[in-house]
Amino acid sequence: MKKNIKKMVNLFFTALFALAAFGFMISCEIEHQHTFESVWSSDETDHWQLCLCGEIGNKSNHTFGDWTITKEATYETVGEKIHTCSVCGYREEEVIERLVHIHSLGIKHEAIAGNCVDKAILEYYECLGCSEKLNASGEVLSSIESTTDAENHKGITTNWIITARKHKEIYDCCGVEKTEETQHSFGAWTTNDDLPKSRTCSVCDYVETIDYSKCVVGDIILSDGSICPIDELDWGIDDPLAIIVRKSYMDKPALGIGISVYWEQQWCSKEAEGYYTNIYALQNPADGSEAWEKLNEAFSDVTTTKYPAWCYCANFGYDALSEGWYLPTTSELREIYNNRELIDNIFFRLTGSYQLQTRTFWSCCQNSRWERFAFVLDFSNGEVFHIFKDAIYYFCPVRAFY
Ligand SMILES: [Zn+2]
Ligand SMILES: [Zn+2]
Ligand SMILES: [Zn+2]
Ligand SMILES: [Zn+2]
Ligand SMILES: [Zn+2]
Repeated sequence: MKKNIKKMVNLFFTALFALAAFGFMISCEIEHQHTFESVWSSDETDHWQLCLCGEIGNKSNHTFGDWTITKEATYETVGEKIHTCSVCGYREEEVIERLVHIHSLGIKHEAIAGNCVDKAILEYYECLGCSEKLNASGEVLSSIESTTDAENHKGITTNWIITARKHKEIYDCCGVEKTEETQHSFGAWTTNDDLPKSRTCSVCDYVETIDYSKCVVGDIILSDGSICPIDELDWGIDDPLAIIVRKSYMDKPALGIGISVYWEQQWCSKEAEGYYTNIYALQNPADGSEAWEKLNEAFSDVTTTKYPAWCYCANFGYDALSEGWYLPTTSELREIYNNRELIDNIFFRLTGSYQLQTRTFWSCCQNSRWERFAFVLDFSNGEVFHIFKDAIYYFCPVRAFY
């Protein structure tokens, strides 16, 4: 019996305890109040506050204030603006698009014609709002430059380009030829005896001066006496008559050799008085010019038949250079020999063949011991030797140029 009572009491207290525990639990749950953080959480659209239990509360859209421009947009760059939520302080940024400019025609600039140097400038308008250049339709011109005009010369001044023989006129502005290259139109040579002689081109005013003291070996002398570098020869017009073989030096004048296709002749024939005569005046003449005088002083039979090499030389020239030609001395032949390559190349250009080659040429010099011998110079080796006056050898006319 006691046992049962005790069991009953145990059961009673157990039940009572369980009841009390359950009731405590019930009352605990009912009494929790959310406590939200003071800090706001946010995303792009909303803000809210959190309870420690994880509950979200006070959620709502941001309430933005007015936009504030932080960077003005320009025609070149975008701008920037921000606004802020008055509740949570969330900041939203936005780009302000670039300003859009519409061109409008301002001041008009007339077209400028081009010339040989400067490009033409198109008609254009300045834009009122920017620095662009516009056409009449308001379109932007990538360039206002057009092309040059070769026919329209910028300057009117011209210049003469002058060489010894020719002139041409060119425009200063662009160098284009106005008058094509032609020979000078020379007037007459000055007639006074003062040297050097000169003449003037009536077109370009170039004054040609004949100053043989300035000649160099290889210069060409034309039949009118003028000096012409070989590269300036005008083959259709010019008449080359001599090649300078010695330039003037000390008391000696320039020496020229006659331009011809050479041939062979006797110094003199057996019929000539000079054949059997030791002509003392010709043993050592100063030059061939003096020798020619002495020969004529010594004999009255100086003709082409009897003294062919002599006479062909003396009669070689014409025009302004008709006088003064002669058969050279051995020393004058030596001077030719010393420049033989240059001279023979010029002969080749002028006559189509070499005239000196390895030929042997007569001098005007008499052998001092044997009356029937005169001297020749062998161009194959430069040696001087003597030979019968009626032998047949080449001869070349030369002339001094003062
Ligand atoms: Zn809570
Ligand atoms: Zn907010
Ligand atoms: Zn504009
Ligand atoms: Zn020009
Ligand atoms: Zn001229």
